Amino acid sequence: MSNTSQKSSWSYASAPENTDHIVLKEQYDLFINGEFIKPDSKKYFKSINPATGEVIASISEANKKDVDFAVASARKAFASWSKIEPKERAKYIFRIARMIQERAKEFAIIESIDGGKPIRESRDVDIPLAASHFFYYAGWADKLEYAFPNKTPKPLGVAGQIIPWNFPLLMAAWKIAPAIACGNTVVLKPAETTSLTALKLAEVIKESGLPKGVVNIVTGAGKTGSEIVNHPDIDKIAFTGSTQVGKLIQNSIVGTQKKSTLELGGKGANIIFEDAAIDQAVEGIINAIFFNQGHVCCAGSRLFVQESVAGSVIDKLKDRMSSLIVGDPLDKNTDIGAINSKEQLETIKKYIKVGKEEGGEIYQPTCNLPSKGNWCPPTLFLNVSQSHTIVQEEIFGPVLAIQTFRTIDEVIEKANNTPFGLSAGVWTEKGAKIFKLTQELNAGVVWANTYNKFDSTSPFGGYKESGFGREGGLHGLISYLNVE
Ligand code: NAD
Repeated sequence: MSNTSQKSSWSYASAPENTDHIVLKEQYDLFINGEFIKPDSKKYFKSINPATGEVIASISEANKKDVDFAVASARKAFASWSKIEPKERAKYIFRIARMIQERAKEFAIIESIDGGKPIRESRDVDIPLAASHFFYYAGWADKLEYAFPNKTPKPLGVAGQIIPWNFPLLMAAWKIAPAIACGNTVVLKPAETTSLTALKLAEVIKESGLPKGVVNIVTGAGKTGSEIVNHPDIDKIAFTGSTQVGKLIQNSIVGTQKKSTLELGGKGANIIFEDAAIDQAVEGIINAIFFNQGHVCCAGSRLFVQESVAGSVIDKLKDRMSSLIVGDPLDKNTDIGAINSKEQLETIKKYIKVGKEEGGEIYQPTCNLPSKGNWCPPTLFLNVSQSHTIVQEEIFGPVLAIQTFRTIDEVIEKANNTPFGLSAGVWTEKGAKIFKLTQELNAGVVWANTYNKFDSTSPFGGYKESGFGREGGLHGLISYLNVE
């Protein structure tokens, strides 16, 4: 597949990543009690390469019996895992981190084949951050009493963990690393379109010698997820996914003893003041909305530009969009890869149609998109206001809605006028404005003069319909401990 550069004076020779050394099985089983086992359901579903439409592998569909077995294995393992010397726990987790680093290239390529994201992103962001998360929480395993002075932190028990498809290995790392560092055991379910790197992680975990049953990985779709959520022997549900499913989960565990953290959707405001470094801000806008095809919960999908600079920002933005390379995720030049699934592409197309019908002015650079696979060109909408559907709802694709503002109070009010509260970005050279906005924006993360930067030492999470609980940093430990 060749890359598709739109209007650009640069021409890049294609630079495809070599996939010769990648070994994938035709069929993947469940990882329970330290072994790969066939699903009781005897059912398998296909994992599809979103850039080509080709089948990559068959993945097991876990049923109630499979989930029962996984939970029972986790419960049995908890008895010893929660008691072993914390520094011994740390050694296993450090080993897993190092093994991810050793196999980083393999993980990155599989992530791009299975999920559609550009290899530059899986290579430079997803996989290093996943390893970093294991390193970081391995460091905490024997220091929990220092993290919570004068308390006796105790693990919760068995955690049921359910993750989405946008950062498959990274989300698995966000879930597993803090949970097992605190002495819990887990049953994790990856998303049905992107199970492969979690199953590769299961191979690493097996090879690392981690005691059987500490980490169990079951695959399947929503039904498998709800078997985990409703299982009576699970102590904590950690969910990352859509607000809609998050609400269902919250309803099903009301009245039980289960603890929960919900990391849900977002509609981040990216705010550009007239005193910002405009060229850097334009790069920041591109990164905020087109990183990972916009399949990012904290994407800067609502852009607010101060009126005095709106004309030049929008011109520069359109110009930069026309140089973005859309195409083969495995090509190192690619900026925007494939949309993760046919269903997600339909959702994005539906929102683009609604945006036009409601009077938005659309801009898409000319793109010769590949003939096979799921593709969406980078898209922006002008002439939209707070009440437009594409300003209010999460699209989860490369679609930006642009509004202007005159005063700082106006933009704070507009930015907060959303059911979500996950992320925001502020571009200005004035520190005082940054402090005011970080205090007054209802967002779990506010980036200043940058966007979409993640670090295992920093807490991440939302307010309002973006969920509750924090992952990452010291805060990420609290979600997996009873601290009394
Ligand atoms: P989704 O809610 O459709 O699915 C997420 C996971 O839940 C999948 O593994 C799915 O199989 C499972 N699931 C579906 N129905 C279920 C049910 N009834 N019971 C239990 N599990 C069920 O979300 P998605 O489309 O995979 O992911 C995109 C969403 O995730 C976006 O809304 C995005 O904003 C959000 N997200 C949030 C964060 C965050 O940290 N806040 C991070 C990444 C993604």
